[in-house]
Formats: sequence, structure tokens, C-alpha cells
Amino acid sequence: MQNYTFEDMKQIDRSQLGNMVPLELFRTIRLIGLNQGLPLGGKSTTATIGRKIGHSLPVQSIEELLELFEELKIGIPRIVYRDEQRINIAVDDCFCKGLPTLEEEKMVCDLEGAIMEGALSKLLDRRITVREIKCNVIGDEHCEYEIRL
Ligand SMILES: [Zn+2]
Repeated sequence: MQNYTFEDMKQIDRSQLGNMVPLELFRTIRLIGLNQGLPLGGKSTTATIGRKIGHSLPVQSIEELLELFEELKIGIPRIVYRDEQRINIAVDDCFCKGLPTLEEEKMVCDLEGAIMEGALSKLLDRRITVREIKCNVIGDEHCEYEIRL
């Protein structure tokens, strides 16, 4: 075997600790490791990582992608707007919910948007773009992404 696939990630055999890790670990990797640990907030690296993850997800439709987001406990996504050119997806209970606002008010859910971007680009077989437009951590009512088709 040369590389791991998403299916391999589900092969878990831990007798005592099971298949869960705490949200603070995910946040620590995301925010302290990637966001604060890489130059320029890890912008381009995070985009690359997210798209790669998105590509690896075994989803056949946007609905399946949204279900998987919830299954993975990233957040609870729902489509709030859709036309020919654009889809807006709000995410409730996002992993960032409850974090304090930083002095430099910035949105933090770029990786999750890049995951959607990778998954949807693969699904539609062309390059689409996903932009973070709202985030809990800057006082918005939920996190939201705008997808340009
Ligand atoms: Zn957010």
C-alpha cells in the first residue's frame, strides 16, 4: 500500500480509547498548529491540505458531502441560498463555536471551506471556489461559505 485513503482512516482498533479525540485537540492542530504555526496564517498550505482532504472524501453529491460534514462533527451544514451561479452554506455548531474573538478579528474556518472546495471540484469535475464569508469567532450568527459554481 502506497498511500492511505479515507476508508483506511476508519480502520480503528483501540481497545481503551475508542474512535474519538477531544475537540480541543482538533482545534489545537487547526488553530495553533496550522493557523498560528505556519507563515501568513498558513493560508495557502491550509487551502492545499483542505482540497486534498476534500478530494479524498467518498461522496457522490453535495447532500452526501453535507451529511459527512455532520458525521465527522465538523459542524451541521445547511444550504441557505442556491441559484445557477452560487450556493451559500451555513454551518451551525461549527468546531469554532465558543472560541473567544481575537484582537485581529479573523475568520478561522478556512480549512473546512477548502475541504468543500476539493470535494465539490471533484464532484463537478471542474475548479470551483469556496469562500468563507461568516464565522462565529468574529461575532456572526453562524459560519457560512459562498460557493461560486
Ligand atoms: Zn467559523
